[in-house]
Amino acid sequence: MALLLLGSMGSLSWMVGASMSRQLAAEQGRALHNLGRGIASLMGQGLDERLDEIARLAEGDLYPYAAGPRTIDDRSLDRIAANRAHYSWIGMARTDGQVLAATRHMLVGQSVAERPWFRHGLQAPYTGDVHKAKLLAAMLPPAADGAPPRFIDFAAPLTDGNGRVVAVIGAHVNWDWGREIIALLRSNDARQHGVRVYIVDATGNAILLPLDAPSDDTVPQLDRAAHAPALLEWPDGTDYLTAVTPVEANAGPNRLGWKVVVRQPASEALRPAYAAQRVVWWSGLGLSLLAAVLAWWMAGNLSRPLTALHAAARRIGAGETDVQLPAPSGASEVRSLNAALTTMMATLATRERSLRTANETLEARVAERTQALADANAELTLLARRDALTGLPNRRAADERLQSEVARHRRSQLPLALLVLDIDHFKRVNDQHGHAAGDTVLAEVAQVLQRTLRTTDFVARTGGEEFIVLLPDTDAAGGLLAAEKLRAAVQAHPIAAVGTVTVSVGLATRAEAFRDAAAATHAADVALYSAKRSGRNRVVRFDEAAQISDSLLDALGT
Ligand code: GH3
Ligand code: MG
Ligand code: MG
Repeated sequence: MALLLLGSMGSLSWMVGASMSRQLAAEQGRALHNLGRGIASLMGQGLDERLDEIARLAEGDLYPYAAGPRTIDDRSLDRIAANRAHYSWIGMARTDGQVLAATRHMLVGQSVAERPWFRHGLQAPYTGDVHKAKLLAAMLPPAADGAPPRFIDFAAPLTDGNGRVVAVIGAHVNWDWGREIIALLRSNDARQHGVRVYIVDATGNAILLPLDAPSDDTVPQLDRAAHAPALLEWPDGTDYLTAVTPVEANAGPNRLGWKVVVRQPASEALRPAYAAQRVVWWSGLGLSLLAAVLAWWMAGNLSRPLTALHAAARRIGAGETDVQLPAPSGASEVRSLNAALTTMMATLATRERSLRTANETLEARVAERTQALADANAELTLLARRDALTGLPNRRAADERLQSEVARHRRSQLPLALLVLDIDHFKRVNDQHGHAAGDTVLAEVAQVLQRTLRTTDFVARTGGEEFIVLLPDTDAAGGLLAAEKLRAAVQAHPIAAVGTVTVSVGLATRAEAFRDAAAATHAADVALYSAKRSGRNRVVRFDEAAQISDSLLDALGT
């Protein structure tokens, strides 16, 4: 924006300058032209008057002191010259060129036969071009510019009563006269503003230069300025507003063809235009700077909220949820963008909350289910180790317990007793009373066993109508006692609709029987088998059983 304004102001300044320059050039040109015209007319008039003066002097009837040609002598000429400004020399020469009389007696007796004024003056009144003093140079003071004096020549023939030319009157007018005319018409102000006046002859040579001009100063080709004042480049390379006016001196037959050239430096003539141009330019620059600051501020106002929003959007994009959105400000589009982002943030937060809640609920449910599963598993484990009919531990539980008790026994060497019980003739119970009665017998025998044993003892139903009992810290005597007590308790407990049932018990207590669980069971089984063989409803120890077996084997002859 600033550059745009600067450009516009630059071109505006140029246009203002150009238009004002044109106007000023025309106006100032007219002023220069008027000055030139004044100088030209005064100069033309002066030339005519001088020529007229000399002509009248020659005719001899103008001045009372000149009664006739023959009365002209040095003194009368001195008087005329004293009365008239700028006459440097007035003299009278015979037709052969010899000077008869002259002001201050200068050149009297010398010949001027070769001088142009003399030769022309023999024929008719004559005005000569400016030239340097030749014969008089040494006798006269130098010109105002310090150069040798220069003159304009005027001459006229002197005739006798018959019209015969008898002499020539000639006058040299000091060319300082031209300078005086210029000084008279040109104001001091114009001088100070660089207005200078040149006089050029018909060939274009400067015959009068301003006092402050170099002596070899020249005037450019003036064709362009001949009709109207114009800006011309002068030989010194500077542009000058230049006005040219011809000097009209019509009285004499000799047309000098002089021109008055008035010039003023363009920088001076067009100074107001340049000043106005500068004012427009600098104020334009100031305005542009102001506009730049304003534009900067406005652009900042527009982009700052956008930048803040952009930063917030990036953070949201990166997954942050507690992003603080900037306070809504700026253009309405930015505000609505802000509102959209806020809504989006809220939606995201709600979604995340509900997701988290769902997640928590799910976790709680999984934990719940896991607990239920664990409970069920524990239940199952329990069930897997418990006999459904009697509620006693089953074979699996008995095996496990036996393994650990045998291991403990072997490590601690503490006594351990193992009983295996089997209900006698249970087949018959089933057969006579039915399976349900059989089950009742099993359940009640289990109850009796449990009731009779210590809490530290272990009883399990290992299958069918067979039970196993583990008695920790119990030696052979204790084991026998406990076995006997169990056997007696079962027998002492009649069961409704069935009556009395008995059990046979095999007992294993010997250290060698407890090499491992299998050996222990085997030993107890052997003892039980022995108890069955020897009549049922009894307790047999494994070592007894071995003797019985041996004697049995002996008896059988095997
Ligand atoms: P012994 O004195 O030699 O032990 O004779 P027994 O009839 O008890 O011997 P056996 O092992 O031949 O019979 C066991 C019977 O026990 C066979 C089976 O029908 C019965 N039985 C096994 N388990 C159950 C059960 O859970 N309930 C019922 N009612 N009967 C069972
Ligand atoms: Mg059995
Ligand atoms: Mg049995």
